[in-house]
Amino acid sequence: NQNLFNTFARRMRERGGADFITTLQGHGYRHDEALAATERLAGALTSLGVTPGDRVAVQVDKSPEAILLYLATLRVGGVYLPLNTGYTGEEIHYFLADAEPALFVCRPEDVDMARSIAADNGCPQVATLGTQAEGSLMEAAERATPREDIVERDANDLAAILYTSGTTGRSKGAMLTHRNLGSNAATLVEAWHFNERDRLIHALPIFHTHGLFVACNVTLMAGSSMLFLPKFDADVIFEEMPRGTVMMGVPTFYTRLVQDARLTPQVTAEMRLFVSGSAPLTAETHQAFEKMTGHAILERYGMTETNMNLSNPYDGERRAGTVGMPLPGVEYRITDRETGEPVPKGDIGMLEIRGPNVFVGYWRMPEKTREELLEDGFFITGDLAMVDERGYVHIVGRDKDLVISGGYNVYPKEVEQVIDELEGVNESAVIGVHHPDFGEGVTAVVVPEPGATLSEAQVLDFLQGQLAKYKQPKRVFFTDNLPRNTMGKVQKNQLREQYRDTYR
Ligand code: ATP
Ligand code: MG
Repeated sequence: NQNLFNTFARRMRERGGADFITTLQGHGYRHDEALAATERLAGALTSLGVTPGDRVAVQVDKSPEAILLYLATLRVGGVYLPLNTGYTGEEIHYFLADAEPALFVCRPEDVDMARSIAADNGCPQVATLGTQAEGSLMEAAERATPREDIVERDANDLAAILYTSGTTGRSKGAMLTHRNLGSNAATLVEAWHFNERDRLIHALPIFHTHGLFVACNVTLMAGSSMLFLPKFDADVIFEEMPRGTVMMGVPTFYTRLVQDARLTPQVTAEMRLFVSGSAPLTAETHQAFEKMTGHAILERYGMTETNMNLSNPYDGERRAGTVGMPLPGVEYRITDRETGEPVPKGDIGMLEIRGPNVFVGYWRMPEKTREELLEDGFFITGDLAMVDERGYVHIVGRDKDLVISGGYNVYPKEVEQVIDELEGVNESAVIGVHHPDFGEGVTAVVVPEPGATLSEAQVLDFLQGQLAKYKQPKRVFFTDNLPRNTMGKVQKNQLREQYRDTYR
């Protein structure tokens, strides 16, 4: 039986009375308790009509029970489909229509709306789950006959459909198999030296690959434990670090921590690993963190469609501003974005990935799947990258964010890095905006440091002589905050929309 849950269940049995998941309030499950709870929840799912291959759509706030629901779904051979807690009714409409789940599990307070959306989209069952284990799902689990079996699954059967973050357009459902998830978890346990003594500080959302698969699958496979926090809160992080061993975060966690005087070698002394991903970590933050703690953040690169594929080394230099090398079993190549031919080493091109971690296609998007998942097994990531002389991969940015001005390629990150060096600049985003002469005009949106006063002329002067003329922004705008989604990703399509008429 190649059901991923089989592997997890074996580890949970072995770990028995050891902690698996705990909250700040002391609520949680040991490994054996969690395993028993999945039997009851599996019974509940069956009583609610979930059969093998059925999708179980879930939009609930973070709780240990939400993870048990994920596990129980695997256990009964279902396909887990988590949804961003920020999605509104209209968005849920789209996802339920697209995914046709057999069951929709929602927050207790959303149940009326959820019932009506489910009815409109032919979804036969709705259940509720709250953060205190309240709601109809856990009630059904108490009533149901526990299921001790684990439904037989092939490695190529679907385990989950995970929607992409929607940074570049409408979210796409990535179909992930038991092999995809299992192989990646096993690889990461090994690569990042996860072990039974680990206690992961978990402050990420659990509807995204980072907080769900990277964090939870690795914890399950290693037989370690995690502290489940509702969200990132620096006060709590500092309090908990002496009792933790690993933290996984998005770059904004780290940019906030390095601005805090409580970040010291002492407070991080028990921690063995800090991981960053989901968006670029600036070299500056990496260096500041190392200076303040002695820990070099391990930056890795992954996506919904591929799980994790590149990582800085556990042993060996973790190079700031890079995402490291391919994980064992993963291959990559960098190709010309127009022709698809490999580029000379050191040149910028499209990053393509192949391995057991790579998804099997976009749910109900055969056309898009064919375009991006090539016949030889490589997946076109949509990210531009280059490899340096020491074999470390640098993510240069998204292909969709590349600016082509007067026929020249301008890589936003290169321009942003120079702007960010100017005194008084906190951060910046460079975008391409329609321009009558140049096709696209390089445009900078700058966030000043609190209290700093900057002018457009000052920024432009600073860039003179540092960047070729065609890379220099034609206009510079100022704002207090860049638009970001829950994973801390800058939403450049929103900026492009906002500044679209700049050169008209
Ligand atoms: P959508 O595909 O819907 O536009 P998305 O690409 O943001 O959204 P995810 O799958 O959550 O959805 O994110 C994967 C992307 O995140 C990668 O393609 C890459 O652009 C970015 N990313 C992840 N890790 C890193 C990293 N360490 N450095 C730079 N970018 C990263
Ligand atoms: Mg994407």
